[in-house]
Amino acid sequence: MKKLAAGNWKMNGTAAALDEVRALIAAHPAPGCEMLLCPPATLVARMAEAAHGSALLVGGQDCHPKASGAHTGDISADMLKDAGASHVIVGHSERRADHGETDALVRAKAEAAIAAGLVAVVCIGETEAERDAGQTLAVIGGQLDGSLPAGANARTLVVAYEPVWAIGTGRTPTLAEIAEVHAFLRDRLRGRIGAEADGVRLLYGGSVKPSNAAEIFAVPHVDGALVGGASLKAADFGAIVAAL
Ligand code: 13P
Repeated sequence: MKKLAAGNWKMNGTAAALDEVRALIAAHPAPGCEMLLCPPATLVARMAEAAHGSALLVGGQDCHPKASGAHTGDISADMLKDAGASHVIVGHSERRADHGETDALVRAKAEAAIAAGLVAVVCIGETEAERDAGQTLAVIGGQLDGSLPAGANARTLVVAYEPVWAIGTGRTPTLAEIAEVHAFLRDRLRGRIGAEADGVRLLYGGSVKPSNAAEIFAVPHVDGALVGGASLKAADFGAIVAAL
């Protein structure tokens, strides 16, 4: 399986940031992994144009579960696809927290993404209080079960494990803790979709930087990363791409 370096720009970036994208593409014309950037919705089409003919894939950060209709401010998976996206992140912890998204809603969004022909990047992760209480595996197991879309297979689904307490904090779990969670997720997925689970990319996310990428990528069942802050600069994200 090809590993995946995915960047989540969150609510950052205007047209000027496309210079970073052009620099990234120029520096990594034939990366050894899949390379994906998920800019804000306003930049998806322009980034897809900039990436045309290159190895860079473009994704959205969220989609509505419905294909169209009276949902002011929302964007459908079909619209992202039309704008040039190949992937969409669903269930990021910031959306679960900021917008009260439940596992059931995340699942519906992932199913809408797959129906539109996008790869769904489903995010799960425990809070610090949950980890301190020894509930990490129970929490992420429940999130995976509840968020897993029908039709999930190695081509339609990516799962990103992002401990909430590691996002934007500079703190990461130990390599042993990442290994424990990723082995658990692979096993849980096998229980749901059988051998297909072995081809589903399991990403780690949360304070991934050029300096820690190589050691995290060496952990068994880590098939790439979902990168926030370090995906905004071509040099940093390029170094993470190179580490894969
Ligand atoms: P940081 O890499 O900035 O910690 O963010 C991780 C993340 O939330 C990616 O989706």
